[in-house]
Amino acid sequence: MREITHFIGGQAVRGASERFSDVFNPSTGQVQARAPLASDAEVNACVANAVAAQIGWAATNPQRRARVMFEFKRLLERDLQSLAELLSSEHGKVVADSKGDIQRGLEVIEFACGIPHLMKGEYTAGAGPGIDVYSLRQPLGVVAGITPFNFPAMIPMWMCGPAIACGNAFILKPSERDPSVPVRLGELLMEAGLPAGIFNVLHGDKTAVDALLDHKDVKAVSFVGSSDIAQQVYARGAAAGKRMQCMGGAKNHGIILPDADFDQAVADIMGAAYGSAGERCMALPVVVAVGDKTADIMREKLIEAIGKLRVGISSDEEAHFGPVVSAAHKARIEDYIQMGIDEGADLVLDGRGFTLPGHEDGFFVGPTLFDHVRPDMKSYQDEIFGPVLQIMRADSFEEALSWPSQHQYGNGVAIFTRNGDAAREFAEQVEVGMVGINVPIPVPVAYHSFGGWKRSGFGDLNQYGMDGVRFYTRAKTVTQRWPKGGAVTDQSFIIPTMR
Ligand code: NAD
Repeated sequence: MREITHFIGGQAVRGASERFSDVFNPSTGQVQARAPLASDAEVNACVANAVAAQIGWAATNPQRRARVMFEFKRLLERDLQSLAELLSSEHGKVVADSKGDIQRGLEVIEFACGIPHLMKGEYTAGAGPGIDVYSLRQPLGVVAGITPFNFPAMIPMWMCGPAIACGNAFILKPSERDPSVPVRLGELLMEAGLPAGIFNVLHGDKTAVDALLDHKDVKAVSFVGSSDIAQQVYARGAAAGKRMQCMGGAKNHGIILPDADFDQAVADIMGAAYGSAGERCMALPVVVAVGDKTADIMREKLIEAIGKLRVGISSDEEAHFGPVVSAAHKARIEDYIQMGIDEGADLVLDGRGFTLPGHEDGFFVGPTLFDHVRPDMKSYQDEIFGPVLQIMRADSFEEALSWPSQHQYGNGVAIFTRNGDAAREFAEQVEVGMVGINVPIPVPVAYHSFGGWKRSGFGDLNQYGMDGVRFYTRAKTVTQRWPKGGAVTDQSFIIPTMR
């Protein structure tokens, strides 16, 4: 059995805990490797190594740190195909989609190439007599990232790009379900010239996460995963005095107004709902059609489009989506489909029991469509995270606006319309962090920041963009006075003011 290694101090390190997690190939359902689960002692050793390495890295000038990012970007482009194939073999998403996963991470690395400019401070000359004020940003030290299975390249790079470029040492605790690409990222960073110990990968479960959260030398933790765990991780890390940002689950709505371009909306929704088998936090698993006529048209067009979908193994170049990540997740999705039926939703297309000839043990779920879904249904309130699309019928714009606003999650939302006034009103009013107007997956570009509201995000600063730079640095403000001629100023017992 292939054994995946940690990546610590610039090299592969065998797990010492004797605890392992199986890594499956979701297309075949077979175990293909096992990943070690780190112990407290392994976490402590990794942190100690990172603490020692970080001092020199923080003292390396930002232009040289940027050069490592430029080279890392080049190496990611060089190895895009092999990285994507490796990613697909453990995750199950099709290879073209894995390339997108890597590309979106690479765009954050491109952003991090600008770190000399991004970390520039501010300066005020003459803030008072002989007084100048300047502010600067300094790295935190050792920081950690805990990432989910669904974007094993992009999300680690959301974090490590700004963290490393800002002068920190970074410890990644990736998902134990698809751990190989994160290790490859470490190898490529070393090849790009990063000093040993600045990017580390520790595989593990709750034990490793808790050890990182409790460790006094880990100064900040970024987490992305499901909401209950995000909230627990946030609370534990914050109680230990760390800077925390924890992104959680999602249930994103696509609002269809009666004046929308229905054919374009259907084309957009198909990819957003079923791409990556719905395993995206910015997937669009709910269509809110305003008016029964809009709903009827959308339903018919969606049925037709779904009929043309091809489900296949992750290396099938013709497939639109592949298997879900695990047998347990497949069973969970199928339970939610049954729940929707039991709650009275209208099951239009049933993806349960889908099998692919030659791959009967793969973790496949076929495309599923519900209509007449209502806000009181648990199958609507929860995140299903599978290829299941739910149509809801709203009587008015106001009702369509209220559903995503009142939902427990507030990650993304999209509105499809030709009416600029309605779109503007919607974007202004909706209680969701990322809004698309005729854009189904409004993941912000790398120089803006990513983050949801409500139970989709705990903490103040979002991922990447300037928020990433702020998260991985702390500001220091220096007020300096160089009096002329050594004249002694009078004693003063009142707070200094600028009067
Ligand atoms: P998950 O919450 O199961 O795991 C996320 C990480 O937490 C993994 O590294 C895992 O090993 C670790 N973990 C698991 N149990 C833990 C525990 N009890 N204590 C501490 N750490 C623990 O999530 P997942 O299934 O890997 O990923 C899917 C979820 O992530 C979905 O809910 C999805 O919406 C969400 N997600 C959110 C975003 C976002 O930016 N908001 C992006 C991608 C995925």
